[in-house]
Amino acid sequence: MSSTSSRLLARYPFIEDAGNYLKLLDYRLEEFNEPYMGSVVDKATKRVIAAIKGILYDPDEIASADEELVSFILACIMVKAIRSKVLYRRFALSEAKRAEGFLVDDLSSSSVKDERDNTLNSILKGIFGIDVTYNSSDGSTYMIMVEDYLRYSTHFHDDYWKLVNRVVHKGYVYLSIKDMVRLVRDEIYALIVNRLERLNVDYGHLPEALQKRITALKGMTLQLARDESKEPVIIERRGYPPCILNILKALEQGNNPSHTARILLATYMLGIGKDVEEVCELFRNAPDYNERITRYQVEHLAGLRGNRVKYSCPSCSKVASQGLCFKSDECDGISNPLQFGRQKKRGIG
Ligand code: SF4
Repeated sequence: MSSTSSRLLARYPFIEDAGNYLKLLDYRLEEFNEPYMGSVVDKATKRVIAAIKGILYDPDEIASADEELVSFILACIMVKAIRSKVLYRRFALSEAKRAEGFLVDDLSSSSVKDERDNTLNSILKGIFGIDVTYNSSDGSTYMIMVEDYLRYSTHFHDDYWKLVNRVVHKGYVYLSIKDMVRLVRDEIYALIVNRLERLNVDYGHLPEALQKRITALKGMTLQLARDESKEPVIIERRGYPPCILNILKALEQGNNPSHTARILLATYMLGIGKDVEEVCELFRNAPDYNERITRYQVEHLAGLRGNRVKYSCPSCSKVASQGLCFKSDECDGISNPLQFGRQKKRGIG
């Protein structure tokens, strides 16, 4: 296996060849009890801790591509053994964001051409089937076919991602490197979640060295488990308009609603009389949840910070223009989500 392939696997360990590569290296699980494997077990543990804390795994040093790759596989085994869906999502998001950084780096015009082409062929074309072409005429954009763009941009509701706001020429959409990579980050996230779900881990047969780490990590995951137990409380509520229910459902499923969707949810909840605490709670299930940042943003919308202006819930026409309206018959005759089911709303909260 070439060093470039090994480098790719270390940066993008979720790619299909990773499992095969482990077999090629002839690793056996019981080997991880041996002292010489301590550093790779440490790295795997750090990966999981980074996910629990909602930060990116940043190794002090990259000893070898093999070690990076093996630490990812071990981290997946640990996450699977801990059996927390919230941790699955956090881990997948943490690793997807890390890969996003590498992709931007690899696809940037300053990268070595071979690395750029290798990444294009192995990740974007190889895994996601996106036919991407480097636009050598300006050296900073990529071109993808319109149908590919539409397929991968459907879950972005911001105007920014609408096709009318893109440069389109002869059936191709022109994208900056950052946008190109952002387009596939959610796919990487979904791929890692899928890999975790398919992984079979028999805790009783894991080496003692891994079991000890898993026990310690379980303790750290307890808070996440408590958050998990709060999810049904959110979705069982009745009386919310379809646009709001849709965002709550996305949060319940561990997805990342867009920035505009989060503003709609927060301003709606503040508008019906929820306090800052209650609104912040709704975002706890978001994979990228950060208590300090969420509180700051909600307090800002509530008029408790900055210019002290309380933000209003946007009108239905504004929500529709943002692609967030899922109008039902019950919405007839209203112009703002706050007017939805006024009779029922008295029963909420
Ligand atoms: S019509 Fe208004 S309340 Fe109903 S889903 Fe659309 S934005 Fe929400």
